[in-house]
Amino acid sequence: MSNSSEQELDKLVGDARTAIRTAEDLATLDAIRVQFLGKRGSITRQLKQIGTMEPSLRPRFGLAVNRAKRTLELDIERRRDQLKDAAVAEQLTQDAIDVTLPGRGSGVGGVHPITRAMQNMEDIFAHMGFETASGPELEDDFHNFEALNIPPDHPARAMHDTFYVDASTLLRTHTSPVQIRYMRAHPPPIRVIAPGRVYRCDSDVTHTPMFHQIEGLAVDRTISFADLKGVLTVFLRNFFETELKVRFRPSYFPFTEPSAEVDMSCVLCGAAGCRVCKQSGWLEVLGCGMVHPEVFRHVGLDDEANTGFAFGLGVERLAMLRYGVDDLRLFFENDLGFLRQFR
Ligand SMILES: [Zn+2]
Repeated sequence: MSNSSEQELDKLVGDARTAIRTAEDLATLDAIRVQFLGKRGSITRQLKQIGTMEPSLRPRFGLAVNRAKRTLELDIERRRDQLKDAAVAEQLTQDAIDVTLPGRGSGVGGVHPITRAMQNMEDIFAHMGFETASGPELEDDFHNFEALNIPPDHPARAMHDTFYVDASTLLRTHTSPVQIRYMRAHPPPIRVIAPGRVYRCDSDVTHTPMFHQIEGLAVDRTISFADLKGVLTVFLRNFFETELKVRFRPSYFPFTEPSAEVDMSCVLCGAAGCRVCKQSGWLEVLGCGMVHPEVFRHVGLDDEANTGFAFGLGVERLAMLRYGVDDLRLFFENDLGFLRQFR
C-alpha cells in the first residue's frame, strides 16, 4: 500500500515537473499549478488519503507529499520567473529603435509660384517708385463700380460676372476699387500698386473663380500716356528678363480715357508665331489707360489740374507665360510635384 502510494506520488511529481518545464506562458503555468497543487489538485488529494493509511506509514508518506509539494512550488516559481524574463525581453525587442531606418525629413517648403510672381512684380514696380497698397476683398458697389464710372445700368457690369453678397455688397471683381480708396486717402502725387485676389463667377481652362491682379495708379500734374508706356515697357522687360517689344492698341474701359490693350511680342516663340500667340507673334497681356475725369470727380480730385494713368494685369496670365505653364488650374490644385519645380 505504502509502496504503491509512493510510486503513484513519484509519477505525479514527474508528470507535474515535465508540464511545468514545458509551460509556454504564465496562464498555462497557472493552470498546471491548479491541476496539481490546487484545492482539488492531484497532489492535494494525496494528502487527503493519508487518513486512510495505516498509522505507522502516515509520517513517512506525509513527509514525501510535503516534499513533493515544495519541489513543485519551487519549480513553478522558477518557471514563472523565466517566462516573465522572456516576456520582458520580447517587449524590449519590439520597442527597440531601429537606427538604420531612414529619418522623417524636415519637409522644406517653398513660395507658391503665384506668390513668387507677385513678389517679383512688386519688386520691379518698387524700383520705379511705386508703393504697395491693399484694400478689402469684400467691397461695396460704390468702390467696385460706381466710383469707377460704371453706373448701375452700365453694360460693362454684365462682363464682370459678379458674386453678390447682398444688393450693395460683393466680392471685388478687380483691384481697381483700391485706386478709389487710395486717392480718397492720399493727395497727389501718387504712385501705387495694389496686388490682390479678385473674384468672378467663371470657371474653365483659362478662368478660375478667384485669381490675382495687380492694379497700378500714378497721379500728378503732368502724367502723360508716354509715362504709362515707359512704365509698362520697363515692367514687362524686367519681368520676362528679355528685350521684348510692346505695342498699345486702342480699347475701352469705363474708368480710363483713352484706354489701351497692351500686347508684347511672344516670349514663347520669339515672335515667330506659335500655338499660344495664335501664330500672330503677339500676346495680349494687360489693360490700361489715362484716368477718366469722372473717376477724379468721384474721389474729389480736380480733373483739370490732375492727370494720371492706371493699369491692371492678371498675375496668373503673366506667371503662366513666364514659367511656361499651360493650364491655369495647375496653380490651384496644390500638386506637390508641380509646386516643387518652383522651389
Ligand atoms: Zn508665340
